[in-house]
This record gives sequence, structure tokens and C-alpha cells, in this order.
Amino acid sequence: MAESLSGGCLCGDVRYEVRGAPVYVFHCHCSMCRRAGGAAFQTWAGLEADALTVTQGTPQSYRSSSFARRSFCGRCGGQLFYHYTGAQSPALWVSAGTLDHPERVTPDRHVFESDRIPWVHMEDGLPRTEGDPEL
Ligand SMILES: [Zn+2]
Ligand SMILES: [Zn+2]
Repeated sequence: MAESLSGGCLCGDVRYEVRGAPVYVFHCHCSMCRRAGGAAFQTWAGLEADALTVTQGTPQSYRSSSFARRSFCGRCGGQLFYHYTGAQSPALWVSAGTLDHPERVTPDRHVFESDRIPWVHMEDGLPRTEGDPEL
């Protein structure tokens, strides 16, 4: 996997780089990711919390729960990052769909399978958990 990855939002106002390869990559079917991304599910690349450098622009952020903040472009609305700020060690998830080369990361599991929309079918053989990622 690549040593570093770059990406950005739809309009190009926000650009970022992340250092190192993702620790895990998962499809999240939870209703919050669905609404935040406006998509059937969201694919996240989990990285060390300090791996992110925003190289252009300033993402807006929204505290989506007591333990998380989600960042997005204030102009085009593109969903970029999920910052876990709860009791366990901090974590960063980067929206894989915003990477310049999303093919460089490989999803390894589905989470919140219990919330998956019935018409989303992915016969990829990956492990599935009912709820939270067990990481
Ligand atoms: Zn944008
Ligand atoms: Zn989710």
C-alpha cells in the first residue's frame, strides 16, 4: 500500500494528505454515515489520529455525537473525515471516496451490517459485524 495518500472534496477547496497506510478500511452501513454522506453507505479508511495534514482550505465540522466530529467542505458539502474523540485512543477515518486514488486502499470488512439497506448487495466475502467496528 502507498506510503501516503492524498485527496480532496468535490469542488477542490479542501485538499489533504495522510501519512502511512490505513490500519483498516471498512464499509459502514450505519444510518449516521448514510445521512452524512448522502449515500447508501460510506467507506472509511482508518488511520492514526495524527496522520492527517490539510494542505488547502479549512474543513467545516459537525459534532455528530458525544464521541465524534465529522468534517466536510463548507462549499460543496463533501464528507471528508471522521474524528473519534471518545474515551479510547483517538482515531481518524478518511472518506475513501474522496481519495485521489481510492483503488490504493482495500476494504476489509463491513460494519453496522444490521443497518444495511436491503437493496445494497455486495458479495465480496468480507467479514461483517452487526454493530460498531471491532478494531
Ligand atoms: Zn468542496
Ligand atoms: Zn457509520
